Amino acid sequence: MSLGEFDLIARHFTRPARRSPLGVGDDCALIAPAPGMQLAVSSDMLVEGRHFLSTVAPERLGHKALAVNLSDLAACGAKPLAYTLALALPRADDTFLAGLARGLHALADRHDLDLVGGDTTAGPLNLCLTIFGEVPTGAALLRSGARPGDELWVSHPLGEDEPGWLGDARLALEVFRGTPGLRVPGEAFDHLRLAMECPEPRVALGLALRGVASSAIDVSDGLLGDLQHVLRRSGPDGRPLGVVLDADALPRSPLMRAQTAALQHECLLAGGDDYELLFTAAPADHGAVRAAGQRSATGVRCIGRITAESGTTVHDRHGHRVATPWASFDHFRS
Ligand code: ADP
Ligand code: MG
Repeated sequence: MSLGEFDLIARHFTRPARRSPLGVGDDCALIAPAPGMQLAVSSDMLVEGRHFLSTVAPERLGHKALAVNLSDLAACGAKPLAYTLALALPRADDTFLAGLARGLHALADRHDLDLVGGDTTAGPLNLCLTIFGEVPTGAALLRSGARPGDELWVSHPLGEDEPGWLGDARLALEVFRGTPGLRVPGEAFDHLRLAMECPEPRVALGLALRGVASSAIDVSDGLLGDLQHVLRRSGPDGRPLGVVLDADALPRSPLMRAQTAALQHECLLAGGDDYELLFTAAPADHGAVRAAGQRSATGVRCIGRITAESGTTVHDRHGHRVATPWASFDHFRS
């Protein structure tokens, strides 16, 4: 017998709320930010065939759906509080739901995050999460705070053998697509695909960067494309700021280093699905950024500098220009 709507909510998505005054089961949930805090709110939708492949393990799908939302809180320097889960399901498949819930709950528990409500309906597989965090009034990291002369930084895993380096999600996607010329041995693929399926949101780093970074964004659509949002929003009177970026300074995994230079550049600069933090800070705060990285056990790498003149200049360590022909990802243009 298949599960009914309320049975499946009760079985898989009803858990005691630990820090929220009221969780799943009433018409509204109640969230209580601490005094002096602003609520930070973000929604992300994951659609089968668009954002994930039907073959992904349900547990990883749960992890990723929550991770991409946590990444938005991280980019604002907000502390996670609670989230809601709106689900469209083709059928009430108990095994699928148990896996999905395991992935969600495991990551939520690591961030002390309550699932406080949602909606459940029949339909093509689609997950829409809304996440709520808190940040001291006026302390949120914004896209609009970069200044000429600021250093540009990107986060990365600490160890070379850790999964999820910049560009690796895109490299995994190219393997799935069967792109010729890749240098990815079969036994390396299971590790590589973790970048695409199990991103690690940089929540601790976001918190540590409050009061240090001048602007921040999380890289979801490709580093250069997302950087344009920062440059545009930070420029005076609608004129974007510019950037000079050293492509050889970009952090990368040993497997990425084995690829052709052209593929490395495309994955690192225009890959997408990275969920690293891209942020700026005044040169005087260089040491404070390093300390924030250490406090949050997250790698941080300085990759360039913000300029008053508009324009994106990418060069390698010899000073040669690197071509950047990629348009940023756009759901209605790609
Ligand atoms: P309403 O009709 O008042 O919107 P529902 O009958 O849709 O409420 O849902 C009952 C309760 O279960 C509500 O508290 C709602 O927030 C919660 N809920 C529904 N779907 C989910 C889900 N997928 N995950 C978590 N909570 C859910
Ligand atoms: Mg409802």
